[in-house]
Amino acid sequence: MNDSTFTPARCHIDLGAIRRNFTRLGAASELMPVIKSDAYGHGLLPVAQTLSDVGAQCFAVGVIDEGLTLRNAGLGQRIVALLGANGEADWHAAHTHNIIPAIGDFIQLECAAAHGDAGHPLSIALQCETGMGRLGFTEEEIPHLIECLRGMTHVHPILAVSHFACADMPEQEGYTDIQVRRFAAITEALCTAFPHMQRSLANSAAILARKGIQFEMSRPGLAIYGGNPFGSARQDACPDLEWAMSVCAPVLSIRDFASGQSISYGCTFTTCRPCRIAVVGIGYAAGLARALSNRTTMLVNGRRVPQVGRVCMGLTMLDISDAGPIQPGDLAWVMGGPVAEGQHPVTPQELADALGTIPYEVLCLMGSLIPRVFHA
Ligand SMILES: *Cc1c(COP(=O)(O)O)cnc(C)c1O
Repeated sequence: MNDSTFTPARCHIDLGAIRRNFTRLGAASELMPVIKSDAYGHGLLPVAQTLSDVGAQCFAVGVIDEGLTLRNAGLGQRIVALLGANGEADWHAAHTHNIIPAIGDFIQLECAAAHGDAGHPLSIALQCETGMGRLGFTEEEIPHLIECLRGMTHVHPILAVSHFACADMPEQEGYTDIQVRRFAAITEALCTAFPHMQRSLANSAAILARKGIQFEMSRPGLAIYGGNPFGSARQDACPDLEWAMSVCAPVLSIRDFASGQSISYGCTFTTCRPCRIAVVGIGYAAGLARALSNRTTMLVNGRRVPQVGRVCMGLTMLDISDAGPIQPGDLAWVMGGPVAEGQHPVTPQELADALGTIPYEVLCLMGSLIPRVFHA
């Protein structure tokens, strides 16, 4: 943890939960856990090491630099960089350290060929466009791609990947089926030409909902961190997963206010009875979105209390009038934390729902802005 920080809030990462979630998702040999974006805010290296301990043989990172961080820590697993290589230093590092860039067009393929050599070809993953409309070779390009690859001794295609656009939307099942069929057709041609190639399609949603379409490798992201990509719509999709991130901040000060007193910027909350207000040391600079103002609750002493008034840059207020004895220094839990009987922790999903976003964004933001504390 960094010693100097701008917030007294802390982001707790339960590595045991990550270990258990990974094990629940299937055999380690068929999983390529996605640890891009600092492991969705959970910490790239601690998460990679934790997954390595339970048998992960493969990692999907975003940029080549993330792969380098893993190599420098001594991790020897297969590493795929989903965002590919970007610039000379990236290509060089990919070749030197065996980090597999995803390649999705012919310009990138030329770059890859220019950076491998016949004695030590550059291993690449082929991105296939099946309906995401983002990166990857289209079905029409595959014959030409195969022809190019056959003539290249400096690159070595070892994996074909594609990504679902709506596997987390049961109402879009037809679209997902089309993507599966396109990927099967594309990879049939590729694997005929290069029989050692492996295929990877499923994300968390597809792993949980569509067992049996996983090809050789699946790429779980959110589910490793405890999230259900179906959100509140399908609680049953993965009943056993455990959220790994929780966030707390200390109560800095407590004050009693008479009825009719406004709290925080903009006077968006006015007490309508005598109120006891706790001031908590977390704000939007630490990832507690200002849009949550007057719309969230936190756990104090294991019980939910309402957040009141605007969320400030470094402070947030709670109405603790009904919460029993609370002292400065007690912890308010924004997400997770110990709960009293009959109470439920606030989940990243709940915060995401209140914000009109997805838990991925909540985790990335809070995890990157708040100092992390790791628990084995
Ligand atoms: C992020 C990502 C994943 C993981 O998706 P989840 O929904 O978090 O399981 C898989 N594949 C690609 C290409 C990704 O970018």
